[in-house]
Parts: sequence; structure tokens; C-alpha cells
Amino acid sequence: MNWIERDKQSIWHPFTPLLGVDDPLYIKSAEGVYLITEDGRKILDAVSSWWVNLHGHAHPAIAKAVAEQAASLEHVIFAGFTHKPAITLAENLLSILPDNQDKIFYSDNGSTAVEVALKMAFQYWFNKGDVRKKVIAIDGAYHGDTFGAMSVGERGDFTKPFNEHLFEVEFIDFPTPENESKVFEHFKNIIETEEVASFIFEPIVQGASGMRMYNEQFLDKLISYAQDHNILCIADEVMTGFGRIGKLFACDYISSNPDIFCLSKGLTGGAMALGVTSCTKEVIEAFTSQDLHKTFLHGHSFTANPIACAAAVASFELLTSPTCRVNLSRIEQKHKVFHAKIKGHPRIKDIRYKGTILALEFFTDKDSSYFSEMRNQLYPFFLKKNILLRPLGNLIYLIPPYIITDKELDKIYDAIEEFLAL
Ligand SMILES: *Cc1c(COP(=O)(O)O)cnc(C)c1O
Repeated sequence: MNWIERDKQSIWHPFTPLLGVDDPLYIKSAEGVYLITEDGRKILDAVSSWWVNLHGHAHPAIAKAVAEQAASLEHVIFAGFTHKPAITLAENLLSILPDNQDKIFYSDNGSTAVEVALKMAFQYWFNKGDVRKKVIAIDGAYHGDTFGAMSVGERGDFTKPFNEHLFEVEFIDFPTPENESKVFEHFKNIIETEEVASFIFEPIVQGASGMRMYNEQFLDKLISYAQDHNILCIADEVMTGFGRIGKLFACDYISSNPDIFCLSKGLTGGAMALGVTSCTKEVIEAFTSQDLHKTFLHGHSFTANPIACAAAVASFELLTSPTCRVNLSRIEQKHKVFHAKIKGHPRIKDIRYKGTILALEFFTDKDSSYFSEMRNQLYPFFLKKNILLRPLGNLIYLIPPYIITDKELDKIYDAIEEFLAL
């Protein structure tokens, strides 16, 4: 049996129907922006392997850090014990997060980083003797696939089988220039109930709902208002963090500082699973007690895994290097030029970019959702050209590793233009 047959006999893949789909591609290795198949085919990974890769695949500095860490301390329980990679990484992260961030809580993926944030916020109020059960979230949000994360996310086809098990959340409309004042009124009304524990949002760009971008000043206004009313603001930067939209964090574009940050995806440069939830001193103070009832009784087996932390420390060095800064603005500049070139094309409904992300929505006469049939045209079209673009319905987006060259970007833009010319 070959690898694909063996895969099909034993594996259930994520977000993938069990019938009627093409076989998975067997990837033997990866290097830089390329995924390499057994027969030597090189596929340009324009989606950074689900938005996680920053500096290219199998980066030697990250590989070395992982190998060295694995050979000296691969894992240790993180309750009652600590280690250098976790401490170094926490210090590094606090040095680039907004000044109000005081401590780092580790977990092992984006969904758990969000679960931790929500639980922290609920228990913050609980510990203060004020039970608050409402969370405010934004329509179309995606915060992960576990139950808490699903609860604060868009209720749609993805959550339908589970909706009755999700907790109550107040959703405000996705902000647009037309509805901002209405959304703000709604937001104020919800907060007036004095039952709100936290406000969670993907700052500036909503990823899974189609790289939807909204006004940063308006987000700033929502956060300031919420904080004036002591509501904890949770920035889910799982996707936007670590330079993805140009600055190190999306919240670097605004003047207010959220109370809690959720980080994952690019945290380790895309090499290892790791999640982080950071919070302010004020949150910490609500938990500062010898009383076990006020303790945050949450943890995962692989909390602060040393190998994952070592990968993150290595990635941090690359991220904060001048080379990386140059790459971030170079990619945005390239997107800008391509945007100017093809916006207004009759087949394009909308094209937008921010930092390293470029999203392009096509007109379709049919369903424009994730279930749009257009996906079945787009995905194979680009894959045949050895470009991995994973559409969301009638939308494609680029979210490349930061080391992608101008020439490689041009190859993707050219392929998009070819598709438009069909
Ligand atoms: C991907 C994502 C998550 C979930 O992260 P996982 O590691 O896939 O669990 C949460 N929030 C945002 C904004 C994301 O893009």
C-alpha cells in the first residue's frame, strides 16, 4: 500500500468531507516557502500552512533550537516547575506587547488561548463577587473550535449541530462605515445591563470569515468605552499577531490597550503548537490570593512545552530582526501595487489588503458563502500551478511566509490574473 492508501485507511482529516474529495497530497519535506512532494513537486505555500508559518518551512535556526531543546529537556510538568525557554519567551513577549501586559499564561493552541482568556475574564468577576455572564463578540467572528471559542464565534453552518450547547453571547454587527453609530449604540446598550464580563474581538481583520477588515479607530472607540465601564477587553491576535498585518500586533495600530491578549499560530514561527494568553496586573490582582477558590484552576498537559517555547524564542529573534521588518513592508508594498492594478476588474467584487494579507472576493451568481461551488474551481486552478491557495468560498487570500520573494509574489499575482481572464 502506498502512503495515500494507508492515510485513507487510518486518518480523519480536519474540515474535510469523508467522501467526494481529492486525495490529500503527501508532503515529504518543506523548505522556505515550498512544500515538496515525494516526486519532487514544489508547491508554493501562499497560506503559510494555515496562517502559522512566518519565516519559511524547516527554518535552520528554529530546527536547531528544537533539536537542542529536545535533547536537553523535552517536557516537564508546569505546575510547581519552570524552565528557561518558558521564562525567556515570557520576557520576550512582554517586551513587545503593550506596556499594560503583566503576565503570560501558557497553553497549546489558539482555541485554548481563547478558552483561557474567557475563563480568566469570567473568574475575574467571580473572584470580585460580581457574577457576570455576558460576553460581547462581533458578528462573523472566529475564535476557534472548542466550545467556549465556538460560543463567541459566528453561529452558522459550522456550529449548527452544537448551537444549543453554546453559552449566551451578545453579538454586535460587523462594523462598516455605514452602520458604525448604530453598532456603537447597540454596544452601549449591552454594556448598560451591567452583566457584561468581557468583550472579545479579532482586532482589525476577521480571519476565517474572509479576511474582513474594519476601521481601527472604531475598534479603539469600542475598547475605550468598554474599559471606561470596567469591561475586560480580549484581543484575539491568534491570526493577526507577530507581524501578520504589518505591525507586530494589530493592537499596535490603535491607542487603547486591551486587557487580555490571545496568541498562537505564528508564535513559534509555525513550527510547534503553543498558545499564550497574557493579561494585565489588574486581572492578576483579582487572582492574587492563597485561597484555592480564587486560583485559576486551569492547565493542559503540555502547558509551556519546552520544545515549543524554544521554537518560539528562536522565531522571536527572527521576527524582531531588521530583515523581517523590511520583508513586512516589502510585502505590503507589493500587495498595494497589485491591488491598484486589478481593483475594478469586472469579476472582482472586492479586493483588500493589510500588511502581508491580501484578500480577493470574486463575483459569483450563486452562493457566496464558504459552501460556494467556486471553491471547486479556485483550489485546483492554483494547485495545478503549484500554488497553494485555500479559498473560503468565492474568496481567495494570500497570507504568505514573510520570506516570500517579490518574484514568488509576482507568480501568484500572475496566476490570479490568469484566473480572472478565464
Ligand atoms: C485560528 C484561530 C483561532 C484558533 O486557533 P487554533 O490553534 O486553530 O485552535 C482562534 N482565533 C483566531 C483569530 C484564529 O484565526
